Amino acid sequence: MGKRIVIIGAGLAGTTAAREFGERGQAVTLIDPQAGETYERPPLSKHLFDGSRYHLPYHLGSSELVTFVSARALQITLAEATAESQPPAESRPTAESQQDTAAPFGESEIAGTVSLDSGETLEFTHCILATGMEANAPHVPNYPDALPVYNLGEAEWIRARVEASTKQLNVGVLGSGYLGMEVATSAVAAGHRATVYLRGTEPLRRQLSKPVRDALVARHRDAGVEFVMNLTDPADIPAGVHDLLVTSVGARPELIPINGDVPEFAWDVNEKLATSHPGVWAAGDCARVTAGPYALAHPWACEPVAETHGKFLVQLLTGETEQPWSDVPWHWSFQGPEKVFTAGLTRPDAGDVVIRMGPDGKKMQVFHFAGPEPDALLIGVETLGWPPMQAAARRVLDGGHIPTRAQIEDPEFDLKAHSRL
Ligand SMILES: Cc1cc2nc3c(=O)[nH]c(=O)nc-3n(C[C@H](O)[C@H](O)[C@H](O)COP(=O)(O)OP(=O)(O)OC[C@H]3O[C@@H](n4cnc5c(N)ncnc54)[C@H](O)[C@@H]3O)c2cc1C
Repeated sequence: MGKRIVIIGAGLAGTTAAREFGERGQAVTLIDPQAGETYERPPLSKHLFDGSRYHLPYHLGSSELVTFVSARALQITLAEATAESQPPAESRPTAESQQDTAAPFGESEIAGTVSLDSGETLEFTHCILATGMEANAPHVPNYPDALPVYNLGEAEWIRARVEASTKQLNVGVLGSGYLGMEVATSAVAAGHRATVYLRGTEPLRRQLSKPVRDALVARHRDAGVEFVMNLTDPADIPAGVHDLLVTSVGARPELIPINGDVPEFAWDVNEKLATSHPGVWAAGDCARVTAGPYALAHPWACEPVAETHGKFLVQLLTGETEQPWSDVPWHWSFQGPEKVFTAGLTRPDAGDVVIRMGPDGKKMQVFHFAGPEPDALLIGVETLGWPPMQAAARRVLDGGHIPTRAQIEDPEFDLKAHSRL
């Protein structure tokens, strides 16, 4: 029997994997309530107010080898033999130790079944979980219509209200992570007013290091974005002030039970993106990578990572690689006119970073290292307003000549030239 590959979730990770399998002549089944009609998410939070084209559907190239199933996956049941041979949950191997190598492509047996809300059940030899995340949606008593901007339906609802309005809007945003800041800054850039309500005192506190967030937030203030600090209860957002209130207070992985088990937070995967369940891998926003060069305490939740996860799993499951997932993770966020990027491992709390400014005194890079010593290697870079240097940082982190702290501290050191070594 050939492989029966089932991918649950037709977002970026799932669609990428389906496309790559198709290019290798491997048929797959792609399950998603919106199968065949899924789209990129990043434009949703950036183009609510400018009337521009705001989302792009995913294309599969040729979809001959892809069977779309428009349904929601409800649960996975592992094959009886496999399930019976599983030790009890508490003594089960972790994702790190499990499934070190995938079964060679072609020799496969049924590993389990996926049950769908349509009543159908699909067998698989290999299953990729790519179910992404779902936004938290807090109730805001004075704004019962408040909603996140996490999917197309939400974005379209907001855009319809913006288009219907003939006056300057007063937009409220609850939450000051990437999405909240994108909404607020794009509103201001389009001539509206925007107020960001945050729990603490520092916007982007969990995303960017202090030098970058301070510089960025100062520019947003100069542009006219207002901030209300220390708001712990959404009920304290005053009534009658905002024409529109957008919430942006985090998201949680969408998870479906496997043999009745649902992890507390995300699917923990090893350095090859395998879950602890035989025959089941996880990719993109629903996966937390627990081992390998880019292990992290939470899902990466970045567009480029979801894409490389999808590609990596195809290479792994077709036997093209046996190496761990090691593509340099990176994130981009366009906040009004400001562009901010991270690459590699960066820490919002890092205190021992090195800062390099661009010739205009505005462009900036912040470098993170494996330790405080002069010979500690570079592990991550944040870049504000300097896209070509973000590209250089990614090349450097991806190459065989990783610079040390001492090199980056040397004013004569040329990162761009080094990135081409
Ligand atoms: C508004 C917004 C802006 C963003 N901006 C940026 C940005 O600027 N830069 C950046 O790097 N990243 C950004 N991201 C993050 C990026 O979009 C995600 O990291 C990426 O989409 C994750 O891909 P994924 O395939 O894991 O999940 P998704 O693309 O979310 O796809 C998950 C899919 O799974 C389906 N699904 C869920 N549950 C089930 C189920 N039970 N059965 C079947 N199907 C199911 C869903 O319908 C969905 O289609 C943004 C995200 C959002 C929401």
